[in-house]
Amino acid sequence: MKYASLHIPSEGIYDWLIPNNNPSIILANRIYLDYAATTPMAPEAVKALCGSLTLGDNFANPASLQHNFGERAHERVENARTKIATCLKGKPSDLIFTSGATESNNLAIKGIALGYRNKGQHIITSASEHKAVLDTCKYLESIGFGVTYLRPDMKGKISVDQVLSAITSKTILVSLMHVNNETGVINDIHQLAKALEQKDVFFHVDAAQSAGKLSIDLSESPIDLLSLSGHKFYGPKGIGGLYVRNRKKLNLIPLFHGGGQEHGLRPGTLPTHQIAGMATAFELINNTRDADYKHATALARALTEQLSKLGDVYFNGDQEQKLPNIINVSFEQVSSESLIIALRDEVAIASGSACNSGAVEASHVLRSMGIEGDRLYGAVRISFGRYTTVDEITWAGQRIGEEVTRLRELALE
Ligand SMILES: *Cc1c(COP(=O)(O)O)cnc(C)c1O
Repeated sequence: MKYASLHIPSEGIYDWLIPNNNPSIILANRIYLDYAATTPMAPEAVKALCGSLTLGDNFANPASLQHNFGERAHERVENARTKIATCLKGKPSDLIFTSGATESNNLAIKGIALGYRNKGQHIITSASEHKAVLDTCKYLESIGFGVTYLRPDMKGKISVDQVLSAITSKTILVSLMHVNNETGVINDIHQLAKALEQKDVFFHVDAAQSAGKLSIDLSESPIDLLSLSGHKFYGPKGIGGLYVRNRKKLNLIPLFHGGGQEHGLRPGTLPTHQIAGMATAFELINNTRDADYKHATALARALTEQLSKLGDVYFNGDQEQKLPNIINVSFEQVSSESLIIALRDEVAIASGSACNSGAVEASHVLRSMGIEGDRLYGAVRISFGRYTTVDEITWAGQRIGEEVTRLRELALE
């Protein structure tokens, strides 16, 4: 008992993490505008995560149900599962934990492809999906599957008719994202799910960018598989989920084989702390959704106005049917690479998506929309969120403006 109590952390020890609950305060002169790549964790989620690490907490293996330690960890995991599933209006027993949306997308797409390959070998997706979907589909092509990559229109939108007319007797799966991670453009997944419900195909949705930001109601939208990523909604990295409707009836083939956790669909010891952190972050974002959305809308309006004044500025993607927290913008005569590098120590912005090389590449998403030339090579993604302040946006807008003007002058010389 003596040892256990020594390890119980006091509330106060995390205070240094986030002074006044506002992470932006500790950033001094650096402004983070890359929330679409990853969000900082909510302090509430950090606390929940830290509560499952040490001897006095729920650190035990949640599969060790022979003893009380394991049982408590198991309860923590199941409590988290229920929280997340309830926010989505789904069944807790249909939600499985994975390492993130990359794994969830792999499991959904490969799992259905392998489970139903005798029924058909055709998959439909779009050319503007995340690489976790595109590369998975490419792999399946290499082993004999056929994949149709739908092209979005110039505003980044995929229509229901486009999807329906691509369906053949061999189609087993349609995989489309909810919100695009580069443009913020929203697909109407409810309408798509309703249309696909009439067809004999599964519908997978990559909801990594939308979960928590837009309401998703699985009791109303007949989506078969839905991917989540903890670190896109102020939870920890390395944890995500896959919602598998009617899991028991579905022949989803797992990627891993092992100890049988998660009904054998995702074996491996469950990371209780990651799961607790993600669930707390998800519950929080479901409660703050309207406030977060309003805040992002106000910031987006201010920044759009400021940047528009520079002239020869193009905002990419549909400006109505999009999330406010992602702005994809091109400045004529300015390459995204030079702008990003000029600002790298002050304002963190990105080209299309986070890529491991650190190199700036032209976006496959904008390309798929038919965008080319200066507008393609000059596109940057500015994304913000709950902890971004009005002052930060004003300052960032000003610095971006100064650098754009400087780079344009250089181009004229
Ligand atoms: C971030 C992201 C992913 C990958 O999620 P991880 O949890 O980092 O693996 C997949 N799809 C979209 C749309 C994303 O934004």
